[in-house]
Amino acid sequence: MILIDGKKIALEKRARIKEAVEKLSKEKGRAPGLATILVGENPASKIYVGSKIKACQEAGVKSFHNPLPADASQKEIISLIEKLNADEEVDGILLQLPLPNNQDAQECINAVSPFKDVDGLHPFNAGLLNLSKSWDEIVEKNILVSCTPMGVIHLLQKTNIQMEGKTAVVIGRSNLVGKPLSMLLLANNATVIMAHSKTKNLKEISKSADIVVAAIGKAKFLNGQYIKDGAAVIDVGINRVGEKIYGDVDFEDVKDMDIYITPSPGGVGPTTIAMLLDNTLKAFAK
Ligand code: NAP
Repeated sequence: MILIDGKKIALEKRARIKEAVEKLSKEKGRAPGLATILVGENPASKIYVGSKIKACQEAGVKSFHNPLPADASQKEIISLIEKLNADEEVDGILLQLPLPNNQDAQECINAVSPFKDVDGLHPFNAGLLNLSKSWDEIVEKNILVSCTPMGVIHLLQKTNIQMEGKTAVVIGRSNLVGKPLSMLLLANNATVIMAHSKTKNLKEISKSADIVVAAIGKAKFLNGQYIKDGAAVIDVGINRVGEKIYGDVDFEDVKDMDIYITPSPGGVGPTTIAMLLDNTLKAFAK
């Protein structure tokens, strides 16, 4: 097993972003700004938002935190978003998901200016991703793409794992992870299979793949029977079981195989944060 060190790769990326932020801030006469919105008191969401704010500070990005009570109405959330859309010091807006009550997350995301949509979840940016023909086009047009999938591609690139011509299975089809990641793998010329809860023969399909991405949300779901020797395994899952966090891959079961693998925690999570900073920088540059 060769461990893909997400922490190290993310720190290197963050150092490069910090330099770019410094340079662009001088040119523009102000630092980039990221507004975070946290609705309610979900402990995990609080931790995620806290690490995003800390990462901003370390990179020279100004952060503007906006907490709202759990019972905030959709109208209140949208009105805050509109205020942030108009704020010239704010380049990126991050609405932490999930929302605690019956607020419609997509309706709220639709209110974010597409130019400040650092989560890449606005239909405009999701549409640009789907229409893009190649990875070069995604990079050249600075398309704002969901941070976790961008982080996965970054991990594969930095580990020199070839995507072109390889078979990649993405297990999970969420708008946040599975769908955009499939588009990114396709843009990198992989042959992509999207799997989900209704997929038949998942074991066989997964075992045939050169790249396996697990974005399911079920602790230790994938064991060695799903993975072939020589594969690259990217574990997106973050599952709390009691006090511990596990990925979607049963790490103990696969660790002696001849594979590349990201640990969870310490794999995809850190690169997600790095890509959020990268998207904020892109939005600032635009
Ligand atoms: P999600 O919206 O709940 O989607 C889960 C996907 O897994 C769905 O498409 C579902 O299929 C599929 N699935 C569920 N059970 C399955 C099964 N038995 N076999 C095959 N597919 C199955 O979750 P998400 O937001 O994409 O997140 C997935 C995981 O990644 C979670 O653990 C989450 O915490 C983690 N995550 C990590 C990061 C990070 O930064 N590292 C970021 C985001 C998410 P259906 O569509 O058919 O229901």
